[in-house]
Amino acid sequence: MSKKYLIETFGCQMNFHDAERMAGLLEQAGYARAESDADADLVVINTCSVRERAEDKLYTRLGELRALAQDGRPAPVVAVTGCVAQQEGEALLKRSALVDVVLGTQRLKMLPMLAAEAAERRAPQVDISTPYDDVSFPLGVMRRSDPVRAWVTIIEGCNDFCAFCVVPYTRGHERMRAKADILADVREAVATGRREVQLLGQIVNHYQAPDDERCDFPALLEAVHEIPGVERIRFASPHPRHCSDRLIAAVRDLPRVCKHLHLPVQSGSTTMLARMRRRHTREQYLDLVGRIRAAIPNIQLSTDMIVGFPGETEAEFEDTLSLTAAVGYHSIFSFKYSERPNTLAARRLPDDVPEAEKTRRIVALQQLQRGIQTRLLAGTVGQTVDVLVDGSSRRRAWELSGRTGGNTVVNFPGDPSWVGRTLPVAVKRSGPHSVWGEVAAGADVGAPAVEAGTGVSEEAGERC
Ligand code: SF4
Repeated sequence: MSKKYLIETFGCQMNFHDAERMAGLLEQAGYARAESDADADLVVINTCSVRERAEDKLYTRLGELRALAQDGRPAPVVAVTGCVAQQEGEALLKRSALVDVVLGTQRLKMLPMLAAEAAERRAPQVDISTPYDDVSFPLGVMRRSDPVRAWVTIIEGCNDFCAFCVVPYTRGHERMRAKADILADVREAVATGRREVQLLGQIVNHYQAPDDERCDFPALLEAVHEIPGVERIRFASPHPRHCSDRLIAAVRDLPRVCKHLHLPVQSGSTTMLARMRRRHTREQYLDLVGRIRAAIPNIQLSTDMIVGFPGETEAEFEDTLSLTAAVGYHSIFSFKYSERPNTLAARRLPDDVPEAEKTRRIVALQQLQRGIQTRLLAGTVGQTVDVLVDGSSRRRAWELSGRTGGNTVVNFPGDPSWVGRTLPVAVKRSGPHSVWGEVAAGADVGAPAVEAGTGVSEEAGERC
């Protein structure tokens, strides 16, 4: 009987994509997917350390697995991968005797071998080395977890060293994947039924193909756009300072590129942005938003915000509120600052905004944002929007959900066999986070076949 694996992932889309790669490697090595930790021979905890909360989940989960091991069942091999593994290395073995394998972000291909060695010898295995710049991954091995959309990494790592960010320390310096490999991944994703492609990179719009000097990010979008069967293209996350007029024109002119930009700003204050080492000002950001909106009036914007970064004054926080109101985001990911190991801020800037004040500020920001998105979504009532159906509601199987090109979540009654279709939905009512509607009269709802998901369990959806 084949061994079984379970992968639990915390963190960003990049982490979920790594989980798909590990699932493929394990299945190639003869493992089958487990339904739960109780019947798994190998439990992989794929960690994130971008936020303290995501890191805490690892230790909570290890405590739960310890209880399982004490229940008289054979203990599974436990592997910790991802950013916390890269950051902590052997120290993880000291924190929990349950950990058998610690694997860094650039060593995923070693997982089957180290898991087997740990199982045979019952001796911990650690590999957090960063020996070479290999960003290749064998075609067709990955087990994609989403039946409708495919994540495709185009850049690994980051060179920007924003003061709060742990990514350059855990994922290494910026490395570009070959254009030929990216396009092969996209073709494979389409051939296995995926309708939407999401290009991933820490600064996705910094892309320059190592195998084609004429191919920058707008040119890559054009190349992906030409592949038959690609219905929608998204990308995350672009950095404001690399949003050229060519990129804006590509988003405007390529019909299958979604009219949605996740444009991280982090703060609305120029002085704060300088302390964060973001390399753009409030004024430059607002000017960019103005140029994007002038070119693409129907674009929907989202962003990342941090409150309570070291030294944040009331006036700087007010700048964040006023920028949020001025831009009118359709959604934001907002976080209270927490010190991350090794970062510039952790080394040089005292975490001096009291916790209660951080809480007051994030509540104020989220209240403001809730009002903005409630108003924006209310404006869609009465419209008919194209929705790529991506799943059923967790509460009611007959309630489907999907997203518009602008990334609005739309719920509507229907048949689960419609997953994977793009349908016109008439919006009837709205809430602060999503809208509800009905398939427009006369729409063709013939059912396509879509693949089932993999054993990759999903938790959060935070972005860097
Ligand atoms: S916030 Fe983004 S751009 Fe800045 S260091 Fe982190 S990954 Fe790089």
